[in-house]
Amino acid sequence: MPITVRDGDSALADAGAAKAAGADLVELRVDEFFHGGARNAESPEEREIVRIVSECPLPCIVTCRPVSEGGVYDGDDMSRVALFERLGTAFGTGEHPPRYIDVELATYTRSANIRQKIGLAIEHPEQVRDLTTSLILSLHDFRERPADLTRRVLAMRDETAARVHKIAYRARSLRDNLELFELLEGRDRPTIALGMGEFGLMSRVLAPKFGGFLTFASLRAETVTAPGQPTIRDLLGTYRFRSIGPGTGVYGVVGWPVSHSLSPLVHNAGFEAVGVDAVYLPMPIPGARLAKSEEDPPAHADSGPADLEASYLSLKATLLELLDHAGLSLRGVSVTIPHKENLLRLARERGWMIEDGAQRIGAANTLIAARDAAGRLGQVRVINTDAPAIAECLAAAGPLRPGAIGVIGAGGVARAAAYALASAGTTVEVYNRTPDRAAALAEDLAGLPGRVAAAAPGAMAQSCCSGYINCTPIGMSGGPSPNESPLPAGLLRSLPADTVVMDTVYNPVRTPLLRNAAEARLRTVDGVGVFVSQAERQFRAWTGSEAPRGLFERIAREHVVNPRSDAEPRHTRRERP
Ligand code: NAP
Repeated sequence: MPITVRDGDSALADAGAAKAAGADLVELRVDEFFHGGARNAESPEEREIVRIVSECPLPCIVTCRPVSEGGVYDGDDMSRVALFERLGTAFGTGEHPPRYIDVELATYTRSANIRQKIGLAIEHPEQVRDLTTSLILSLHDFRERPADLTRRVLAMRDETAARVHKIAYRARSLRDNLELFELLEGRDRPTIALGMGEFGLMSRVLAPKFGGFLTFASLRAETVTAPGQPTIRDLLGTYRFRSIGPGTGVYGVVGWPVSHSLSPLVHNAGFEAVGVDAVYLPMPIPGARLAKSEEDPPAHADSGPADLEASYLSLKATLLELLDHAGLSLRGVSVTIPHKENLLRLARERGWMIEDGAQRIGAANTLIAARDAAGRLGQVRVINTDAPAIAECLAAAGPLRPGAIGVIGAGGVARAAAYALASAGTTVEVYNRTPDRAAALAEDLAGLPGRVAAAAPGAMAQSCCSGYINCTPIGMSGGPSPNESPLPAGLLRSLPADTVVMDTVYNPVRTPLLRNAAEARLRTVDGVGVFVSQAERQFRAWTGSEAPRGLFERIAREHVVNPRSDAEPRHTRRERP
């Protein structure tokens, strides 16, 4: 988004970089640079801002946001207005005016004098001079949706001199995006309606679907000027912003946290490769405990019964509202921690179709929502693609020695693994630190062709399975024990060489478990393959098409090995006034 002006040359360099990165408009945030004060004589700062605007390689918005509206300008209103007047009438040699100035509704409606002075700098229906700068009238709330939003939007509509309206507030849940979309749909002139924060990303990316005038993106991750702002690289690259329109189908990954999920990278690349008009977004839905802030998400899954109920209600309220929104046309979601069991419960409650595997596993990771041409919701189906993905990856390691497979853990992934193996007739031994959960898993999966047995956690050290699958977060970077292995190195060294050791953890790719297993010369299978295979199955369920062979694998491996640092900001305009 905006370029923070600290000095003329670096601002112009950033504007050049924004142009090179694909922006078609930049916002020059001058509130740090301009201090006001010299109302009658032109100050050096004012002269420099005129120069920056005139030499800017892209059309620009000039914004001098006061402290009261989340900016840093602490001078007086009339100095700021005098700057706008100077900019709007900058027709001297080598000078030209900005395309827009942005003035807050609160400032603009504060006095007739301010309105009259701003009116001297912009084009508007009563303007007698030949001016070209247009007014963006804006309102912001960095904390929440303003309680008097409707009143303020109506007040904006009364101001006929404004060519564009901008409404930005902190989204407190994904549902706030839906109201922002309704503001766009009900607009009376070009409108920007954006949710700030992680929950608001949807409103930024989907702005063109609802006729939004522009969206803001940052040149680099560190230059983000509003929370939740994507980088231009994400917006144009990952989310293919330029190709989004009214008919674009919407998909996403539901869970908490999801901001670092690999799924948007692979699915969006898949849509592009097979020519599907669709976009895939992170869709954060917290579990029981709402994060104190987005920078401090809850690190652990929900636990007690009250937590589990709150987590379920959180998913239910948000997902049903997203599905019911005909304009959004949500066609499918991937579901991850902590909502896989919640999705299955919701499917049972709503009478959606449930695949047998998901039913037996007790968890679903994929929702497929059929829609008619008008976007009306048809049949909804839930499936579990983790189970066949685990089976596929294990099979790819080659024939297994006869014998049981040890599944370590008893959570959602362990259930999927045990179900897949036992369905194919394999005997499964479940090792979990909480024996009751292992026993419950075995009981739930009784009656499948292969036997599922709960083993005492201590029995693992003496076990000799033909293969082991780690389904705990042990060894995961950022997890509870990133440097540990769920299987002791001594046990690994004692196993026959044809034993297969598989990790579902894929960050890092070579976990301590896989490193130890490789040192013991055992066969190893990493977790990236499971991620890729479950994602490819979701893609096929949604689009009816295969993702190009190797595409998801290449993207996932590249990203896991070399997580990307972020690139460049700017503004992307969708519509000209
Ligand atoms: P989950 O439902 O929360 O289950 C986690 C399991 O791990 C539970 O059985 C838990 O034991 C056990 N556990 C957690 N911390 C432990 C520790 N410090 N020591 C010993 N056991 C521990 O999670 P999930 O959805 O099954 O996911 C498990 C792992 O699978 C994730 O961490 C992730 O790395 C991996 N995964 C991979 C993919 C992929 O595509 N490759 C997809 C999803 C998940 P208790 O029962 O005693 O609590």
